[in-house]
Amino acid sequence: MRPIYLDNNATTRVDAEVLEAMLPFFTDEFGNASSMHNAGATAGAAINAARRQLQALVGAEFDPEITFTSGGTESNNAAILSGLEAMPERTEIVTSAVEHPAVLTLCAHLEKTRGAKVHRIPVDHQGRLDLEAYHDALTHRVAIVSIMWANNETGTIFPVVKLAEMAKKVGAIFHTDAVQAVGKLPIELKSTAIDMLSLSAHKFHGPKGVGALYIKRGVPFHALIKGGHQERDRRAGTENTPGIVGLGKAAELALECMDKENAIIGSLRDRLEKGLIERVPKVFVMGDPVTRLPNTTSIAFERVDGDAMQFLLNRQGIACSSGSACTSHSLSTSHVLKAMGTPHIQAIGAVRFSLSGYNCEEEIDRVLQVIPTIVKTLRDSCSVFVG
Ligand SMILES: *Cc1c(COP(=O)(O)O)cnc(C)c1O
Repeated sequence: MRPIYLDNNATTRVDAEVLEAMLPFFTDEFGNASSMHNAGATAGAAINAARRQLQALVGAEFDPEITFTSGGTESNNAAILSGLEAMPERTEIVTSAVEHPAVLTLCAHLEKTRGAKVHRIPVDHQGRLDLEAYHDALTHRVAIVSIMWANNETGTIFPVVKLAEMAKKVGAIFHTDAVQAVGKLPIELKSTAIDMLSLSAHKFHGPKGVGALYIKRGVPFHALIKGGHQERDRRAGTENTPGIVGLGKAAELALECMDKENAIIGSLRDRLEKGLIERVPKVFVMGDPVTRLPNTTSIAFERVDGDAMQFLLNRQGIACSSGSACTSHSLSTSHVLKAMGTPHIQAIGAVRFSLSGYNCEEEIDRVLQVIPTIVKTLRDSCSVFVG
């Protein structure tokens, strides 16, 4: 049986056209972009073409606003550390309680080692940011605000354009982890107050290990990786030319197909959700039911262990995730669902399905056929949750 992949928020398949665009840069066009000969010039031109493709996807205005990195994690680290360094007289960070570990782990580290004060803005039961708490945390002591565009577990979208405007009023730098938003939502950075934005190729059918950081023109930036003069001194190290070319191609394809694909993906996701609610008692959709990514659904199966569910689905060739991929090896429930105040009996049974343009109706229908039996087996066999 062909495997069914519903874990696209963890990573995606590299598109065939993306792979094809990358291949020459492993073989004939292997030059180092810093070299002063033809091979170097070819690599340099390819990198700049990719920069323009990415610039178009996120609506950046000026050419040097895109810096290539090794991915979302590096971009997030670079942005937050740069923000603190740019404003040494300010020592506070504002973020949310539901960020990716790439932000939360760094913030906890800065709290411990540098005495930075970190405000983790809470969310409500539907995962929506507490705007009043956010407003109250914004003072002239805040150097950097880092709030994600869309949540990787629930798909809930934060109003980052508005949040950036609020941050500007106190002179803080505004960064957004847009790893789950880029390629899935229309983004037009030039008309916003967003200073920095992180993205990652492998979340929208590009290769792993390459991403970018958008830095609005005029925003001060201090490099995380120091060394040679690559990327205009913003990110040292020989450029990952094949990866960057792949990222550029993935950006071009995403821009081209976004509207059409989102409509298809959204209807598949809704078919899955509706089908589960009809077939299985005591299931709950987590997160904001309206303002969310079209490809994501986080479903809590009450009185079921999400890990066991994922395991049994995997045996049927169906890949999904219980909680976030980054935390699924620990027994505790997801920090996102905890922050939302999800009752433990639901949070423990949360399973995330994240779709892509590679999914089809037959796959969803097979998942709908398999799940009710699995849930029944788990509920019947498990006395842990009784009483
Ligand atoms: C995947 C992900 C990251 C990490 O990106 P990498 O390129 O894998 O380092 C960061 N933030 C969010 C929201 C993500 O989903």
